[in-house]
Amino acid sequence: MIKYSFVVPAYNEEESLSLFYRHAMPVFERLDGEFEIIFVNDGSSDGTADILKQLCAKDKRVKGISLSRNFGQQSALLCGLAHARGEAVVAMDADLQDPPEVALQMIEKWKEGFEIVHARHKKRAKETVFKRLTAFLYYRTLKKATGLDLPLDCGDFKLLGRKAADAVLSLHEHARLLRAQSVWLGFRQTVIEFDRPERVAGKSKYTLQKMLRLAKSGIIPNSRAPLSFPLQAGIALCLLSVAAFIVLGVLTGMGIGYGGLTAWLFPALALTAGILSLNTGLQNLYIAEIYEEGKNRPHFVVSETYNLPEASPKNGGNEGEHA
Ligand code: UDP
Ligand code: MG
Repeated sequence: MIKYSFVVPAYNEEESLSLFYRHAMPVFERLDGEFEIIFVNDGSSDGTADILKQLCAKDKRVKGISLSRNFGQQSALLCGLAHARGEAVVAMDADLQDPPEVALQMIEKWKEGFEIVHARHKKRAKETVFKRLTAFLYYRTLKKATGLDLPLDCGDFKLLGRKAADAVLSLHEHARLLRAQSVWLGFRQTVIEFDRPERVAGKSKYTLQKMLRLAKSGIIPNSRAPLSFPLQAGIALCLLSVAAFIVLGVLTGMGIGYGGLTAWLFPALALTAGILSLNTGLQNLYIAEIYEEGKNRPHFVVSETYNLPEASPKNGGNEGEHA
């Protein structure tokens, strides 16, 4: 029985893959159980597929999947998770920026009873100021936008116990972001810290375009703030225009000059804009609800059962079980 799975997405990592294998194997061999490394070749255009085949041919503990094209790290991770058979699954990068030694520390935490273990970047070796700054802002915006208790500066290098891995796989939404979904799941979670080393070979596969897409795919689906803006603006404009009407009415009643009929135009315009904005805001409330419904997330995730069979509903009734 496989106890540990290491899921490693790889996109154009021909240089890193053998280095990963050479470095990680002796580390994982220290483990107290059988393990597998699942490399997911995310539509690489270099020699990644060939190297993967060679590794798989010489070592049965290495397993490989090649995707039909480049789907992105999150999709590759999901594919690897779906194939992992271990009791604990660790998602990690192919470039050794997520050190295998740290994966062992995560496993120690899992043995202490934590179902999910996140790894926080304490220091980031030799990364550009731009990368550091965007990463800093990204994690903070993501935390604010999702409203989740996201541990800051934790990417997707994390351990999921079997229950958490199954629960992630049971989520139906298309927009995938393991770092946010894993936190939403609940269970006992903890964070360990590590210094993030440099990439072992090659260059980062995250172009600016990919970074923006990742930011968008995490923040937009998880945040209602932009949708609620027209409602807030509409309420403010309506209140302001009503206040302006009252002031103008009182001034007129007192016979004080106020600039003639044109002065009434401004609150009238503000009221019109306010009503339109309010209308958009109300529609947005429905859009947000439709989005949530479309995600079709389980209503709940079960951690343990007592005096009940193990086979009781695993999650919130999407499969027709009662919630
Ligand atoms: N990756 C992937 N598909 C992509 C981009 C990246 O599978 O479209 C993999 C990549 O091979 C690596 C991991 O995701 O194993 C993280 O990518 P990278 O190291 O380039 O990101 P960075 O560490 O620079 O943020
Ligand atoms: Mg990297």
